[in-house]
Amino acid sequence: MIVWHAGEAMEIGVERSARAKRVRLKIDRMNRRAVLVLPARASEKTGLSFAQSKADWIAAQLNALPAPKVFCDGMGFSFLGEDVVIHHSPNARRGVWQSDGVIWVSGQSEYLPRRVADFLKASFCSYAQSKVLEIAAALQVKPTKVGVRDTVSRWGSCNRAGHISLSWRLGFAPLYVADYVIAHEVSHLKQMNHSPAFWKTVADVYPEFAAAERWLKKNAAYLYSFTTAL
Ligand SMILES: [Zn+2]
Repeated sequence: MIVWHAGEAMEIGVERSARAKRVRLKIDRMNRRAVLVLPARASEKTGLSFAQSKADWIAAQLNALPAPKVFCDGMGFSFLGEDVVIHHSPNARRGVWQSDGVIWVSGQSEYLPRRVADFLKASFCSYAQSKVLEIAAALQVKPTKVGVRDTVSRWGSCNRAGHISLSWRLGFAPLYVADYVIAHEVSHLKQMNHSPAFWKTVADVYPEFAAAERWLKKNAAYLYSFTTAL
């Protein structure tokens, strides 16, 4: 769907939702675009005129997002609580490896962003797997699978089969924030809801959860600003 703003076309996504009660807009920070959420019975035409009336708001939201950061040689950031810098080493024999705060990347520069992202996903995954086991042991629950994904709307999820899924972007957050989301999802193996009993379980394994929640709300756009291509 196209919305016009100051003479320029803005592409926006459209999502049908059985649960939505009214037409609304949300910002997809990962793909840097607005998404129109339509309740089952709303027409596209109604949606379009609503979106068009909010064109200024959409443009302001998108402009306020931090500039996208494509992984490149010399780029530094914090990952899993450690300051790291990317160093391109085209002729190295190994693929991608990390040592003393440097992420070394071999091969052609056009592949560097993707290889860095894959490396970070894998290192977040192995961190998350061991952290899940640690918290699961404390809570005496049995997760069956831990996976890492690039989710737009949620930092983590957990289902009744014991599958825990986490966003690898949590690696860019301070470690206590990533640990909180992991503790939150593991706690769902005790309580599959957000009842007071659930929050008590979270507080037992992770007392600083409110500060972590606040950090995530404030800095979500930063976590989504890392990308492999413009
Ligand atoms: Zn939850």
